[in-house]
Amino acid sequence: MIEVPLGITIREVVEGIGGGIKNGRQFKAAQFGGPSGGCIPARLADTPIDYDALAATGAMMGSGGLVVLDDRDCMVDIARFFLRFTQAESCGKCTFCRIGTKRMLEILDRLCEGKGRPRDLEELETLADYVSRASLCGLGQTAPNPVLTTLRYFRHEYEAHLHERRCPSGKCTALIQYRVTDNCIGCTLCAQACPVGAIAFRPYEKHEIDAQLCTKCDMCRQACQDDAIVAEPRPSGSGTS
Ligand code: SF4
Ligand code: SF4
Ligand code: SF4
Repeated sequence: MIEVPLGITIREVVEGIGGGIKNGRQFKAAQFGGPSGGCIPARLADTPIDYDALAATGAMMGSGGLVVLDDRDCMVDIARFFLRFTQAESCGKCTFCRIGTKRMLEILDRLCEGKGRPRDLEELETLADYVSRASLCGLGQTAPNPVLTTLRYFRHEYEAHLHERRCPSGKCTALIQYRVTDNCIGCTLCAQACPVGAIAFRPYEKHEIDAQLCTKCDMCRQACQDDAIVAEPRPSGSGTS
């Protein structure tokens, strides 16, 4: 854990102290304040880290935690990840926190699986508003923050999941397939990394992925040093499982 002084900007932490984004990826957002915090987009990276400035973005200081996200992170999936935590932590005393967060989580699950319904985004916003205003304690009042901030700054990603059944970041496994591109130099690293044997060893040849065996664990894409494996939207009509 690294302690930073109040007033330092997000960019100074990410690029200066943190040394930038790993593997040359693109800085996409910073998630602040633990599970009840919010996501601040890279374009607001000059925001100073203090209580008021973070609150103005819709995030909060919270536990002081900072998670840096890159272009491979799906913001719908990130919202789901944090809401799942707070939903599980709800003590159940009040209805909006207990049931409202559950309904919100169901919507996020649907979106990530490419099974969104036409009014899901409106419903998500309405539920988030009810939960934050009608919950008795801080947990429920802040639980919708990850959803609200990602809807505010990354609504286009929600819309892609809903209307196109597409995950723009190539993260939501139900909506993607893995493919080896012509950049492949046949180094075999992906075949070594694949835990289910979905890639046959073919030294110095272009490798291939067996879609029937692939569990979409992403290990091959992370192992490939030539950016020769892509996670791309599944062709329409190929199902969402
Ligand atoms: S808002 Fe607080 S008191 Fe109400 S159910 Fe959630 S955790 Fe319990
Ligand atoms: S790791 Fe990348 S370059 Fe190496 S064989 Fe696999 S796809 Fe090709
Ligand atoms: S995504 Fe995982 S299971 Fe699929 S080919 Fe790559 S390493 Fe194997």
